Amino acid sequence: MKIFEYMEKYDYEQVVLCHDETSGLKAIICIHDTTLGPALGGLRMWNYDNEEDAILDAMRLARGMTYKNACAGLNIGGGKSVIIGDSRKDKSEELFRAFGRFVHTLGGRYITAEDVGTSVDDIEIVAQETPFVAGRSEYIPGSSGDPSPVTAYGTWRGMKAAAEEVYGDASLKGKTISVQGLGHVGYYLCKHLHDEGAKLIVTDINQGAVDRVVSEFGAEAVEPNAIYDVDCDIFAPCALGAIINDDTIDRLKCEIVAGAANNQLAEERHGDMLRDKGILYCPDYVINAGGVINVADELKGYNRERAIKSVGIIYDNLKKVFAIAKKEGIPTYKAADRFAEERIAAIASLHTTFLP
Ligand code: NAD
Repeated sequence: MKIFEYMEKYDYEQVVLCHDETSGLKAIICIHDTTLGPALGGLRMWNYDNEEDAILDAMRLARGMTYKNACAGLNIGGGKSVIIGDSRKDKSEELFRAFGRFVHTLGGRYITAEDVGTSVDDIEIVAQETPFVAGRSEYIPGSSGDPSPVTAYGTWRGMKAAAEEVYGDASLKGKTISVQGLGHVGYYLCKHLHDEGAKLIVTDINQGAVDRVVSEFGAEAVEPNAIYDVDCDIFAPCALGAIINDDTIDRLKCEIVAGAANNQLAEERHGDMLRDKGILYCPDYVINAGGVINVADELKGYNRERAIKSVGIIYDNLKKVFAIAKKEGIPTYKAADRFAEERIAAIASLHTTFLP
């Protein structure tokens, strides 16, 4: 892998390789872009096949955070970090403290948080070494707590923006909505949809999660693999990534795809295919930004009411993305990238009005 070539191609600022002999820490911190503010992005712990995969993952995820944070209207840049290791057996206090020390050396250019393979408890250990940590334990005053209900709220708002675009009316009353995944986000999303009078068709591999939504919200349940064949107005993926792919795309019978799952398109071309099929796709990182907006609020001294109010911006952001897509004749996933890039470029070109 030619790291500098890759950095140049996608305009990365910094890649830090961290090694600590005592704890066995091998980590990568990647800062993609700090034009809008300090880079914020979670810490992933994963047993990568090789170092190159770990570096590439950190870089790819950091760039994704730049776009997500920019679209969310946050004054926050994009970054991410990874620890190479098995999250089931390689965790230790010294590992996360060593990582925290490396975060601290960056002086606030990078703020870390929980991600796949790390927990709030791990992040609390990191926080013993550095204040540049967000998404802290609910027991810490001023922390933002579980982001899932806020993510679900943002997803619901985004879905309404899509409904307005397609049906000329943001109301979801009477609409049939299929939901894949009834976990932390999916459950709360179903609650919003049920409260608004939508009809729910749901699935999950966890029968308990299905039973709960069936009994509380009168949802109809289908087998996990049948969710793609359901006749519905809106499909909400809230479980896994890459579920819009060559095997599923021709089975979809919806007019809108709007869900919280990350990386829904297996490949970018599947975003083009959705558009060709006349399905409006709500780009995942725009519609599921409620979680990061919630965590970012912690940096100002967390206020739940303010965080939820800020998440309302997802409705307007999606409308802007749809408008760019229409104007430029491009699919919505590309329009979202353009929306983020335009905001970053505009802020970058501001002239300072005071001397430091
Ligand atoms: P979760 O783990 O609580 O829920 C995921 C649910 O999907 C689980 O109930 C699981 O049983 C189910 N599932 C797994 N495989 C499935 C399959 N093949 N078919 C049907 N159901 C399946 O996760 P979550 O926090 O609810 O997040 C859901 C998605 O949203 C993830 O992709 C996550 O990355 C993304 N997301 C979450 C947040 C957040 O605030 N939690 C923020 C942004 C994005």
